[in-house]
Amino acid sequence: MMEKNKEPVEGVKVSEAEYSFAVNLMQYLVVPTFVLDAKGHVLMWNKACERLTGLLASEVVGTKEHWRGFYDSPRPCLADLIVENRMAEMDVLYVEHDDASGMVFGLHAQNWCVMPGLGNQLYLAIDAGPIYDAQGQLLAVVETLRDMTTQKTAQIELERLAARDGLTGLVNRRGFDERLDVELSRAIRDQQSMALIMIDVDHFKRFNDTYGHQLGDECLRQVASALATAVLRPSDLVARYGGEEFAVILPSVDQAGANAVAERIRQGVSALAVLHSGNDSLGVVSVSVGLACGVPARGMKEKDMITLADRALYQAKHAGRNRVESACWDAVKSGAISDV
Ligand code: GH3
Ligand code: MG
Ligand code: MG
Repeated sequence: MMEKNKEPVEGVKVSEAEYSFAVNLMQYLVVPTFVLDAKGHVLMWNKACERLTGLLASEVVGTKEHWRGFYDSPRPCLADLIVENRMAEMDVLYVEHDDASGMVFGLHAQNWCVMPGLGNQLYLAIDAGPIYDAQGQLLAVVETLRDMTTQKTAQIELERLAARDGLTGLVNRRGFDERLDVELSRAIRDQQSMALIMIDVDHFKRFNDTYGHQLGDECLRQVASALATAVLRPSDLVARYGGEEFAVILPSVDQAGANAVAERIRQGVSALAVLHSGNDSLGVVSVSVGLACGVPARGMKEKDMITLADRALYQAKHAGRNRVESACWDAVKSGAISDV
C-alpha cells in the first residue's frame, strides 16, 4: 500500500494567466506525460506523449482508452495501478519495476510496449506519481515516459555477447554453466531423462603444428558449425567448453535419442574432410565423444554429470578416438562419482 505524499498541492490560488501558463507548460513539456483523474479518465495528454505514441490528445482525453497508446489489448497502465490501488500486480504487468511498498512519491517500472500507433515496439521507462488534495484524497495521477529502447537493446546485445564465445559464436563456458544448472534442476524436479555430451577434437595439437594456429582456429569454427548442425531441437544447447573441447546439453532425451545425436556429431565432424585435404597422411579431423544420460537422482550436481561425461570421453580416447562412448547416471548420487 502506497504512503501518501505529505505535501498536497491543492489550495494554491492561481490567476487565469497562471493557470493557462501551467497548462501550456505541461502541454509543451518535452517529457511525454499524461494525467489521469481520480477515476482513471485521461485529463491531459501532452504533445510529447502524442509524438511518442502516435495517439492524439483528442482521441484519448476524457476516456479510459490511454492503454491504446502502448498496448494492443486493454490492460492497466502504471497510473491506473495507483488510481485503482493495484500495486500488487506490478510483477505480472512489468518486465522490471522498483519496490512499490512504502513508496511515497510514486511508482517506477519498465516495459516492452507494442505501441500500436507507431507500429514498432519500444522499451519504456515509466514513472507514475499521485497528487492529493489537502484532505489526502487522490486528485490525479501523472505518468511520465522515457524511451529507453536504444539502451535496452544495447544491454541485451552486451548480455548476449557476454554469453558467447568470440571464435565460434557458440555459447561460452559461462552460458553453458548457467544452462546446465537450469536443466539439471528441471530434470531432477520432473524426474526426466537428460543428456550431457562432451566432445574433444582428436590430435588437435598436431593439426595446429602442421597447419598453424590460424587454420586451427578455422578448423574449430567448422567443428562448431558441424556440431550446431547435428543438434536439431531448439531447446538443445551447443557450447564451447574451452580450447578444442565442446559440450552439448540435451534436455528431455532418452539414451537412444542422445546416442543418435552423439553419433551425428561424430559423423558430422568426420564429414568435414576438406580440413585435411592436401595432406592425406593426417586423415580427416575427428572428435571423440563422451555421452552421459539418464534420469538424474535428487542431489546430483552439475560436476557429477560433467565427471561422468568426461569419463566416457576418456574411454573414447583410449579406445582409439573418433568414437562415441556412453555412461548412464541413473541413480547416481552426488558424491558417489569421483573425478577421472
Ligand atoms: P587428443 O586427441 O588426446 O585430444 O590430442 P590433442 O592434441 O587434441 O590434445 P591436447 O590437449 O594435447 O591439445 C589441444 C590443443 O588444442 C592444444 C592447443 O594449442 C589447441 N587449442 C586450444 N584452443 C585453441 C584455439 O582456440 N585455437 C587453436 N588454433 N588451437 C587451440
Ligand atoms: Mg582437450
Ligand atoms: Mg583434443
